Order: sequence, then C-alpha cells, then structure tokens
Amino acid sequence: MSPLQRTNNLLAVVNPSTQDYLDLKKLISNLNRAYYIESKSVIDDELYDALFKQLIAWEEKLPLGDEQLADSPSQKLTENLTNSFHKVRHNHPMLSLSNAFDDSDLKRFTEDMGAQQTDYVIEPKFDGVSIAVHYENDVFVQAITRGNGETGEDVTNNVKTLRNLPLSLPLSRFGISRAEFRGEIYIRKAAFDQLNKSRLEEGLDAFQNSRNTASGSLRLKDAQTVRSRPLEVVFFQCVHCDNQDPAKKLDKDHNKQMELLYSIGLPTTHTYIKLSNTVESLQEVVDYWKNKREAFPIGIDGLVIKVNNTSLHSHIGSTGHHPKWATAFKFTAASVESVLEAVDFQVGRTGVLTPVAKIQPAPLHGVIVRNISLHNQDFIDRLNLHIGDTLLVVRAGDVIPYIKDSWSTSKRRGRRVEFPKECPACYSPIVREEDSAAWLCPNAHCQAKKLEQLQYFVSKTALDIDGFGREIMKLFYEKGFVTSRVDVFSLYERREGLVSLEGLGPKSIDKLIASIESSRKQSLWRQIVSLGIPLVGPQTAKAIIKHLKLRTLEEVSLLTLDQLVEIHDVGEKVSQSIVDFSNDSNSCQELKELSACFDHGDASNPEIVSSELLASKRVVITGSFDFASRNEIKEFVEMHGGVVSGSVSKNTSVVFVGDKAGTKADKARNLGVPILETQDLSAWIQNNNIPTILKIEDSE
Ligand SMILES: [Zn+2]
Repeated sequence: MSPLQRTNNLLAVVNPSTQDYLDLKKLISNLNRAYYIESKSVIDDELYDALFKQLIAWEEKLPLGDEQLADSPSQKLTENLTNSFHKVRHNHPMLSLSNAFDDSDLKRFTEDMGAQQTDYVIEPKFDGVSIAVHYENDVFVQAITRGNGETGEDVTNNVKTLRNLPLSLPLSRFGISRAEFRGEIYIRKAAFDQLNKSRLEEGLDAFQNSRNTASGSLRLKDAQTVRSRPLEVVFFQCVHCDNQDPAKKLDKDHNKQMELLYSIGLPTTHTYIKLSNTVESLQEVVDYWKNKREAFPIGIDGLVIKVNNTSLHSHIGSTGHHPKWATAFKFTAASVESVLEAVDFQVGRTGVLTPVAKIQPAPLHGVIVRNISLHNQDFIDRLNLHIGDTLLVVRAGDVIPYIKDSWSTSKRRGRRVEFPKECPACYSPIVREEDSAAWLCPNAHCQAKKLEQLQYFVSKTALDIDGFGREIMKLFYEKGFVTSRVDVFSLYERREGLVSLEGLGPKSIDKLIASIESSRKQSLWRQIVSLGIPLVGPQTAKAIIKHLKLRTLEEVSLLTLDQLVEIHDVGEKVSQSIVDFSNDSNSCQELKELSACFDHGDASNPEIVSSELLASKRVVITGSFDFASRNEIKEFVEMHGGVVSGSVSKNTSVVFVGDKAGTKADKARNLGVPILETQDLSAWIQNNNIPTILKIEDSE
C-alpha cells in the first residue's frame, strides 16, 4: 500500500483501535524520516498536518500506556516541557580531537598509525555543538551535552524537539537493546539566515553565529522555544551497542555502521563519508572539501579523519585528551572574534611606544592569538577602541594577525583606550614628531629602550647570536652583566657570576660564550644592522658597504650625508638617520670599541667582494646547497649586482642548481637557460673562482 493510500485509509477511521493508533504512529514516523533524513516529500503538507492532528486526538481518546506514547512523534510537540539540566556522567568520556592544520600534520597523523596499512574515513565536521544520545529498547531516552567531557548536562527534552531526530529506531533487529551515538547539533546556513531575518522583523537582535545559537538553544529552559529554532542533528559515531549475538554484530568498519544506521532512520554522516588509504588521497579529499565548503548548505569548520576499522580503535588507544585514531583537520579561519581585555604600551628600541592589545585567546590559522599590535594612536582612534569591545581579528599575510573591526555589544561600555602622556618605563613626557603617527620616549637613557636595543643587538635579525634570547638578555641587563653592546663581548670574563644566575647552568653559559665568540666573525652588514639605527636594515647596510667600500664598523662614524644620498638605494631620510646616529659623541666612542670586538676579514672575504659580474642578470636559485644557505647565496648574488627571482622563464640569465632541485632545474634545461651546479658555485663563492659560463657571457 502506498503512503498516500495508507494516509487516506487512516484519516477515514472514525472509531480507532490501538492497532490503528500504532499504524498511524508508524506512518508519521516514516514520513518524518523520508522528509527530514532522505529529503523526500511523500505527501502534501496539508495531509501531513491532518495526520498529525489525528494522532494527537487519538492519543487523548485511547487508553495508551507511557510506553506506547514514548516514541510518538507528538512527543516533539508536548507543551510545557522544561529541562532540569541536571549533571550526568558520560558512560564513555567525550574526548575532543587532536587538530591538523596542513599536509605535514596529516602526514604525522598517518605515520603515527605505524606501518600497518590502514583505511581512513573522512567526514565533514559540522559547525555545531556535540551531543551524546541514548536509545533503549528502540526508543530515544536521553541526550547529554559534552560538558567537560566527563560530565554533561541532560538536555533530553530539548533534543527531543529536533525535527530530524527519530524518537524510535529499530535497533532490536540487530540484537541491540542499548546504544549510544555521538553527533553534532547544527543549523543550516539558509535556516540561520531565515531565523535572523524573522528576528530582525520582530525587532529582536540578530544572532552572531549559528554554532552559538545552536548551543544556546539547547540550554533554553522552555522546549517550546527550542522547537522554534531550526536545529538538526547528524550522528558520526556509534560509541556503544550492546548486541551480544555474534551473528548480528555490527560491521567493524565505521562507514558500514553509518550506512546501516542511516538505512534504519538515524541521520548519520553516511552520505558524506569518503574513504582513503594514503596520505596523498587524504590530501585530495581535503582539497575537495576546501573547494566545496563555501557552497555546502551546512557550515563546516573542518574534516574528521578516522581509522575506518573500529576494532583497531582500542588498540591504537588515546591520550587523556584525544583519541589517537582520529584527528580533526581544521580549515584555516580567515577571521575570528575575540574580546579586548587590556592594552599594554611597549617601548621599542627607537623609543617608539607601541600599543599592544591583550585579547581573549582566540584560535586563528592554527595558532592561539593573545597579543595584537595596535600600531599607533591613529589606529586606535579609527577603531574607537574601548576595553571589553568585541574584536574581529583577521590574519594579514601568513602570520601577523590584526584587528579589522571592533564593536561594543554591551550597553555599559568599558573605558576608552587612551595613549599615556608619559613613557611607562622612565616617565619622561612622550613626544610626537611632525608627520609621524608614532609617539616616542625621547629619553636617551630610558631603561626600557636600552634593553630593547641590547635584545635587538644579539637577535636573529642582527648579530644572530645563537641561544641569546630576549629573556636571557633581560636577566643579564637587570643583574648588571650587560649594560652596553660592548659588554656582550666581555661576558666570558664574568663566567663565574653568570653561572651562579638562577636557571642557567655552566653548560648553557659555556655554549652561549662560544656563540658570542663565533659572532665576532659576523659579516659587516650584520654588524651595521645590529646598531639598531632607525630605518637601517640589511638592504641599506649592504648598499652602503658595497658603494662606499666599507671595511670596518668604525668607518660608519665617518659617513657624511653627501656620500650617503649619492647611493641609489639609500634615501634621504635613511641617510639623515645614519648621520644623526654617527654625529652623537656617545655613538662615536661605542663604534670604536665595538669595531675592535669584531674580526675583520681580509679582502678575499667573499661577503666583502663585490662586482658587477651579475649586473642586471636574473638569477634563480633552486635546491639546497651544503656550503651555504639559500639566503647567503642570494646575498652573494646581490653583492655581484644580480637580481634573484623566484621562477624560471626565458628571461632568466642563470639558474643555480643545488641538491634535490625540482621542476625549476628541468624547466631551465628545456628552455636552454645556463645552469650553474653546486661544485662551480661553491668554488666561486668560497674561493672567488669565477665559473666559465659567466666569463664567456661576460666577454660577449
Ligand atoms: Zn622612556
């Protein structure tokens, strides 16, 4: 009999029997399942409503027991249901998942599975709120939130109202009397928009995002209101099934379990599951979802990758925090919301005060963001920032997060963020130069400024002294071991005192002293950069060395404005900054002392040799080299007037090919671009033995 015929027959019944009631209940359950799970509309909405009215009328009329009513679709409509939210301990802890953010994380995850060949299932991770749902004797009996993973809250009556949750499920067919499933409660994108539209029409505030709305809805006291929210559930795990009969055991494969449960009416991830057995095919599925994600009707914030064979799960095990047989691949968040908690004003090495926002920790692009630069006063004013404001944090480029927007959500706004009037370290009144957005501490002896300069002096950008981190410099500075740059080079004389400092043993001190000693050989451009002269970075330092043929650091004090502005790559502002620095009598003395701390290479030092050999030549560097880093080779190319470019074309002059070079080397060969391999290149860089191919080109 077709559903339509059955509908008409049941609607025609005048004096219903209990059997008629059971038939009606079953018909409505089937129609619900077709509609909410298989997205099929079998009969008209009007007929459906008539059936439902009939069901409620019969339930009032017939002498039915609690058991018969328990799985009735009318339970979803029961009035005055409230929730106790009492705490319930999970039978099995609801662990969270480890996170993967890129291909290398995926690789690590599969490698951790060991040598065994494993099939993986990949499912979209719906952006919602986790739920544990229990069935007993084919009837839905309880729903518990995740809570802290050990204990959650009972939200049974609220979850009961979910339109696609089956209140009965024929699990007994498989010998199952008790089962627990884990799932996610979510709101579809279109439904969320519609919900907000009607809220705005009613003069209510719009909801910020669907996940918080889903989670907030579950915690509403009144199930009636919950029913008005377009919540749905999807199940992704069978945690426990008590079937004893080996003949009826569920398949051990996760995807087959999901398929079976789906076929009997449970909304599972079955239709979205993809299988994979290599890290490469995992990456393909990740790419597939990355592309599909925007247009997908449900918000997904990542993918869940699991070992398909569930019988391996207990063998693979879990840490206290997450199972090792599954991981969540998180899609890169383009932005995240957070809250402004405080603003610190930090004094930099040039005296510039940088406001730094302390925000509520927010995950963004695989890191937890806690501090964000607010740049300067103009930036703060433009955002009209107040403490407690909500911030929209986005990532700029690949690493640096910044605040794109901010707004207040509360009526009583926190205090406005104001720049201090004086330096937070030395209390000198701060000054703002004309045409500059920055406020400065003008005090040359400001302690905060001095420390920053010293920290910069030994940092990776400058002298690159291995193991000399910011904290160590701070300690040495506070204890009086280092008060000027020159002091760094006499630290070895104070070894005994350093060793007695808390947290530093003789081993680490000796290592540090060795690093300091080898930094005496640092190239001249790094020595210049380490002075921390405003606006002077590696490019400027190298240009000055090249054009003015500098040999020692001390010579910086002799530079004149006329000389500097002549140099093509050095602007007027930069030149002035250098002259300001060297005109200072303190700097003069310091340059002299500092210069004496460095070993001065002879003229054959390759970093000092410069030529026009590569003038206006485009050089591509590919592969790795054992005698020098790619960056050093790049510097070398630039010292000889060349330009390093990233890709090979017919305009490329020469390609430097190292070990494990990829397609760029092949492309160069195909295009007939000259190639210089490791051996010739190292002979040139280390012994100034200019390779033939360049000489020939030169003579042309
Ligand atoms: Zn100061």
